[in-house]
This record gives sequence, C-alpha cells and structure tokens, in this order.
Amino acid sequence: MADLKLYAGSSTPIRLRGHTLLCLQGFRGEGYSPGFVANMAAIHQILRNQPEATVQVVASPDAVCAACPHQQGSSGCTINGEPSEADMNNQDRVVLGRLGLKAGEHLA
Ligand code: SF4
Repeated sequence: MADLKLYAGSSTPIRLRGHTLLCLQGFRGEGYSPGFVANMAAIHQILRNQPEATVQVVASPDAVCAACPHQQGSSGCTINGEPSEADMNNQDRVVLGRLGLKAGEHLA
C-alpha cells in the first residue's frame, strides 16, 4: 500500500506504469480488492494534495500493482494468465509514447 508518510515531503518518486496514469484519471473508488482500492485512493490523494510529490513513469509493476491481488512476485501482472505482464508492458509503452514520455523518466 502507498504510504502517505513515506511520500510526504520526500523526494521518493511514486512509480507509476504508463497505463496506470489513465487508470488514475478514471479512478472512482472501485478496484480488484479492498486493499487495492485503499492503495489506489492513497496514491490518488497524494497526487492531488501533495504538489511536492514526484512520479517516475515505468513500464513494469508499480506502486498500484504493489497492492493488487493479480501481482505475482517476479512474474508481474497475471490478471489474464502468463502473458499479462508483457501485455501490460506493451500498453505502458504505448501510453508513454503517446504522452511523449519514456519509461524511467521522472515527472515533477
Ligand atoms: S498487477 Fe496487473 S491488474 Fe493489477 S494493477 Fe498491476 S497491471 Fe493492473
């Protein structure tokens, strides 16, 4: 789960997958599990209320995946079985490309 204290006033960037940027835009308090929703809500709150928060965009499991029941260790996302992480990675790169960003970039 995202730790509000960890990120508050710190330079620790929140890792977010490319396609998670879109998920956060549309977040309405629903998700895969209560823990997932609480974590997503915490990240959403940090991004809305803490202008000092920074983000590192990635094409790999992120701060949202960290509380997701479909995240399986080093396999990453397993929501649709074995190829899910590769599919998510591709989605991340497409979204980042459309935004003119590259995986690993930091956003202030
Ligand atoms: S593990 Fe998969 S389903 Fe869960 S948040 Fe990450 S990308 Fe989405």
